[in-house]
Amino acid sequence: MRCATPLQIAEREGVPRPVCPACGYVVYEDPKLAAGVVVERDGRVLLLERATNPGRDKLTFPGGYVDRGEPVEDAAVRETAEEVGITAAIDSLLGVYSAAGNPVVLVVYRATVAAGEPHPTAEARAVGWYGANELPWTQLAFPSTAAALRDWARA
Ligand SMILES: [Zn+2]
Repeated sequence: MRCATPLQIAEREGVPRPVCPACGYVVYEDPKLAAGVVVERDGRVLLLERATNPGRDKLTFPGGYVDRGEPVEDAAVRETAEEVGITAAIDSLLGVYSAAGNPVVLVVYRATVAAGEPHPTAEARAVGWYGANELPWTQLAFPSTAAALRDWARA
């Protein structure tokens, strides 16, 4: 990336990393940040059926990747608008979710509906509201979805 010599994988600080054999440059691969939103209304949470992979046909709350330089809260609101067509009002931080070996770190906020009514979009085949005792645990898209919903249900 600095001198155009093809990189090789070599151990640095005990971790296999891309390293330049010519100039010694080491590529430190960063985590990938995602933002999610648990939208609440009348004690229920808004879930959508994903229209695309990964997790197609499975359920999760709105969310997606944060752009470089974009405030995380703004990404959460943007993804919610794109996926279910509403304006979300961020309320508080629900939690931060990460797992060993997974590059994605998910930040999840609690929010309410500021404007609009949730509806299916190109990214969501269906939308619905679920109470804490109605959560579809076996149909959730990702382990982080379940972890965040467990925290929400507990709260
Ligand atoms: Zn180099």
